[in-house]
Amino acid sequence: MDTYRHKGLRKKLVGLLQEKGITDERVLEAINSIPRHLFLDNAFVNFAYQDKAFPISAGQTISQPFTVAFQTQLLKIQRGDKVLEIGTGSAYQTCVLLEMKAKVFSIERQKVLYQKAKVMLEKMNYSAKLFFGDGYLGQPAFAPYDKIIITAGAPFIPEDLKRQLNVGGIMVIPVGEGDSQIMKRLIKRSETEFEMEEYGDFKFVPLLQNKSFNG
Ligand code: SAH
Repeated sequence: MDTYRHKGLRKKLVGLLQEKGITDERVLEAINSIPRHLFLDNAFVNFAYQDKAFPISAGQTISQPFTVAFQTQLLKIQRGDKVLEIGTGSAYQTCVLLEMKAKVFSIERQKVLYQKAKVMLEKMNYSAKLFFGDGYLGQPAFAPYDKIIITAGAPFIPEDLKRQLNVGGIMVIPVGEGDSQIMKRLIKRSETEFEMEEYGDFKFVPLLQNKSFNG
């Protein structure tokens, strides 16, 4: 259920995100219209509209609203963009992209989360292509992508993902091991040239490598 109270809290959150520097109107509108409380386990519903990350299943987290807004803003989403997301998690970020009319392909390596995300999207009446697999490899079958977003901390920028980005495309990826990561934006200028910008420190759960899948 999405009540007036939830809508009111959401408006406040959007105001806070604006104060923190989010200016892309379409990002703000998407956050204003998506009931984030439905993506959290019941015990946390009251916290859904605070600007905080929260635990979801399998030891993972739903990203902080500011982080979702910031990464999405860096992507400069246009209607119809083909977007590859690594780390579906709760599918909240997925829905923000879908609400902005992107076509979304999203990969998750935890089976439980992949399955939950499928149910969630259906319930919310959104449609995306979800994959259970290893995000380091991307999804070459549907490449190239206009935009690629990584929602877990990557120790390095995976070559496969760089390859699967369109020339002129944008990748947003938090890079770094340990406690915090540096948000990076790559713009692909040619098959071999990338422009790179840095946007400060963020905290993400790690993008896991070489682990057998938790089926
Ligand atoms: N966008 C999500 C963020 C979830 S946290 C949300 O807002 O809810 C990051 C997610 O990345 C976790 O669900 C984790 O299981 C997933 N992940 C970690 N390593 C991965 C990998 N190698 N491939 C795909 N997903 C991965």
